[in-house]
Amino acid sequence: MATPRPLDLVIFGGTGDLAMRKLLPALYHLHCDALLTPEARIIGVARDSLDDDGYRAFSREQAQRFLGRDFRADDWQTFADRLAYAQVDALQADSFGTLAERLGQRPEGQRVFYLSTAPSLFSAICRHLETARLVAPDSRVVLEKPLGHDLASSRQINDEVGRHFGEEQIYRIDHYLGKEPVQNLLALRFGNALFEPLWRREWVRDVQITVAEQVGVESRGDFYDRVGAMRDMVQNHLLQLLCIVAMEPPASINPDAVRDEKLKILRALRPFTTADVATRSVRGQYRAGASSGQPVPGYLEEPGIARDSHTETFVALKAKINTWRWAGVPFFLRTGKRMQEKVAEIVINFRSVPHSIFGVPSSPIHANRMVIRMQPEETVDLHLLAKQPGDVMQLHPVRLNLDFAEAFRSRRLEAYERLLMDVMRGNLTLFVRRDEQEAAWRWVEPIIEGWEQSGERPKPYTAGTWGPSASSALPSRDGLCWHEEI
Ligand code: NAP
Repeated sequence: MATPRPLDLVIFGGTGDLAMRKLLPALYHLHCDALLTPEARIIGVARDSLDDDGYRAFSREQAQRFLGRDFRADDWQTFADRLAYAQVDALQADSFGTLAERLGQRPEGQRVFYLSTAPSLFSAICRHLETARLVAPDSRVVLEKPLGHDLASSRQINDEVGRHFGEEQIYRIDHYLGKEPVQNLLALRFGNALFEPLWRREWVRDVQITVAEQVGVESRGDFYDRVGAMRDMVQNHLLQLLCIVAMEPPASINPDAVRDEKLKILRALRPFTTADVATRSVRGQYRAGASSGQPVPGYLEEPGIARDSHTETFVALKAKINTWRWAGVPFFLRTGKRMQEKVAEIVINFRSVPHSIFGVPSSPIHANRMVIRMQPEETVDLHLLAKQPGDVMQLHPVRLNLDFAEAFRSRRLEAYERLLMDVMRGNLTLFVRRDEQEAAWRWVEPIIEGWEQSGERPKPYTAGTWGPSASSALPSRDGLCWHEEI
């Protein structure tokens, strides 16, 4: 086997919230599990004037906060030896010299540039990296969301990055794809013969994808008010999850085999007409209520929010997929802030038995259901009916819990750990290709435009609930209900 080349992971935005909250903790765990090569270096980049020791001290302080009980001083010490810092202003070409000096120390290294900054800096960073001759043909660049505000701006970012990096060098992160249950869904679907015959309109009644947060906009009001739930969550995370559920079996797990199938689903999503926007979409905005027993302010009272803001903090959609496999099967998508619970889950509701021999009418309530949960815990449950012990034939719902933690006792990698490993190994399967991203924008844009044209305000909902009542009406018009209402 070829000896792996030494890795230089350069994090632009290396002092930022994402780097401290997610990236360094993920790299620390990989280090502790001996998954980083001994020579791997992590170079934080920002404008702040720090030296290596200053960066290590700052990172240590933040790591204690974000790693909590996982922080071990001796492990951190050996991890910190990998850390370095380069003071660079992304907008100033001549400030890339310090970084060039660092990287020039080992020209044979494999370079990964992680752009954990505002996307408005992506173009300048890529341009200046190239001018400083830091981009090798096999260098990789990782792009954080949000990649644009709409189709035109996402194209512009992709064009600008694409001038300096080939598509096979670009890793667009959607961290939901790095979550273990999502990958297990792929394994369950395509590694077992059991599910595939049932995974179609004849046996699936509806699919529900929910990503609900309990928190409000926290300190990110200014950012969020310009974005909203549709752009922040639906365009990327929810549509990617929908693709994983709905795609045809790819010929292999190779990146383009998988991404081709996801793209076909995005292109097969039935576009929303103006009438559909009124009947198949709900957008909401939270007002004051309670969360975990504590009173919380409404969205319009949060810091950084325009007092007359029409930004949605909740979206529910009924999507349809124009394929033979899924014709007529509604895919309900829902996401929101200040919801009753923190939940991220995919629910596959199967049809009821065609005829019940047990004297009770077959009911959707008792139909089989598969629940893939990403939050708060990572589980896959199959809901079945079984006979209740006793002298009468009485059926009772039971939950078959596929307990992967029990079955595989090894530590489960967090999404960012898994995705960082994939970047280092050059595996693009779990990263979003440009055409997928653009197809997703093409589908959501008419919905956003429809809302804007209607001039209506988002429907209010009380913080700590499951969203506006119109959200319940969305499945109930088909005689269905959301998972938590069962
Ligand atoms: P942040 O806390 O505001 O950090 C921004 C980072 O960029 C800082 O390190 C900042 O350091 C650096 N920076 C700003 N201007 C710079 C310049 N001209 N040259 C070089 N460095 C510069 O932001 P964040 O929360 O980490 O988010 C980063 C990106 O990831 C954003 O696009 C965000 O939307 C996205 N994201 C964040 C999260 C999250 O949980 N935080 C989750 C998903 C996606 P200096 O000011 O010292 O230069």
